[in-house]
Amino acid sequence: MGSLSGISLLVVSACTTPAPRPRPTVTLMPSVVPRPDGFVRTAWTDDPFARGAFSFPRVGSTPEDRIAMRQSVDDRLYFAGEATAEVDPGTVQGARASGERAAAEVQVAAEPGERIAIIGAGIAGATAARRLSDDGFSVVVIEGRDRAGGRIHTARSNNWPIPIELGAAWVRNIDRGSLADDLMRLGAEVTAIVSTKDARNLTGAAVDLGSVGSQAVATAMMWASTQPGDVTLEVALRESGAADLPNEPESSGVSQATLLEHYLAADITAGQGVDPDELSAWYATDPLLATGEGDRLVTGYDALLTELLEDLEILPSSAVVNVTSSERGVALRLARGDSLSADRVVITVPLGVLQAGTIEFDPPLPFSNRGAISALGMARQEKLVLRYDTAFWSTDAVLWATVGGDADFPLWVNLEPITGEAILVATMGGDTADRLAKYTDAELLDAAMASLVPFVDPDHSV
Ligand SMILES: Cc1cc2nc3c(=O)[nH]c(=O)nc-3n(C[C@H](O)[C@H](O)[C@H](O)COP(=O)(O)OP(=O)(O)OC[C@H]3O[C@@H](n4cnc5c(N)ncnc54)[C@H](O)[C@@H]3O)c2cc1C
Repeated sequence: MGSLSGISLLVVSACTTPAPRPRPTVTLMPSVVPRPDGFVRTAWTDDPFARGAFSFPRVGSTPEDRIAMRQSVDDRLYFAGEATAEVDPGTVQGARASGERAAAEVQVAAEPGERIAIIGAGIAGATAARRLSDDGFSVVVIEGRDRAGGRIHTARSNNWPIPIELGAAWVRNIDRGSLADDLMRLGAEVTAIVSTKDARNLTGAAVDLGSVGSQAVATAMMWASTQPGDVTLEVALRESGAADLPNEPESSGVSQATLLEHYLAADITAGQGVDPDELSAWYATDPLLATGEGDRLVTGYDALLTELLEDLEILPSSAVVNVTSSERGVALRLARGDSLSADRVVITVPLGVLQAGTIEFDPPLPFSNRGAISALGMARQEKLVLRYDTAFWSTDAVLWATVGGDADFPLWVNLEPITGEAILVATMGGDTADRLAKYTDAELLDAAMASLVPFVDPDHSV
């Protein structure tokens, strides 16, 4: 117990760095959260082939930017990827549809049998490649990583009892398209989450989240919609008065102000990977990545890629650094030095990669494409996955929320009720994700374990 108390102290000091917020004085229970038997953490923002998680409507951007950024250039360069999708941007659904759309655009301009290069073997690139190859074009897929899938990353390891989704894990907006059906046909587990969120305060008492947070955000957005220009969600919450909520704790021990704070931390920052001070109040629901009733949790997302890429020519570990286009075609230079040419190219790299400028375009992309690329935002979202041999909790809720403490880990997904394995997944977003990315593994685990104290079954013995 001595060392466990030490952990608890370390955690409390590590988690109190951000600007102080008014919060009730709470005595943490002694930390009895056991160390996980395995863990994995993601680093999407530092990943040179992602540079973030998914696109979001940054203040000042508009949905038309997605159309502008995908305008083909001289019928030689075409663009796909989730950021170019008007419907369901930021999702697998949107990325897949963008691959179909780009392939259809190429088909209009290309002669039969032309050589088409696809940059990126994520779901958008794989979808476009499959379609164009099936239609008789000579297709090559050029991928910077040593694996396909991009932001679909199903990690399979002998140390883990089930595949772990380090990127996309949910089918969003299941009613739009056949994605869930396709996944099930390919043998992936696709589960509807029926349980409601188990929300607790720091002492482990149940908290009714109600609709305080979502109502305040709706009020703020309504106010913003009457303003002459777009503002951030943070400004809209403040200026509209929607954030003026009582600070006095209610019967569950948390105040309405704390409920709003939790909603912003869980549903906006962690759920959408965006802080309220960067999110457009005009377009904040696009994409709405907070978990909704029409969503399904997936284990085995990579099955999609395996099917799409079968028998296609793929060049792995081949980062493209230069795209030179002319009337005759397109030349691509790779980071390792060699070049290849094609008649046309479909560029599916993430928005964050385009923003970073690691691919040089010659001639430069038109202002309209570049303006749209810089206007949209790239969300920052990371995951921490903890594996336990036996559960230390007794709730069978899949979604957990911790309310009223430090907001670093406001949201957990408990995979035990749906997989039988004691695995917990935390989602961190925005500036919080950036700050936690600097933690050592030991510091991150300590902080995560502290946030799980409210969920410890009192009968569990360490
Ligand atoms: C943590 C996280 C959680 C998510 N959760 C969900 C979810 O639950 N549900 C959902 O629907 N969506 C989710 N998403 C979003 C979803 O994963 C993406 O929208 C989708 O996978 C994007 O597909 P894409 O083909 O557009 O891009 P990518 O999958 O990123 O494909 C682009 C490819 O281009 C490659 N590339 C990059 N630069 C170069 C270069 N210079 N040369 C060659 N190749 C290059 C990359 O390696 C990558 O393979 C999540 C994403 C993340 C990161």
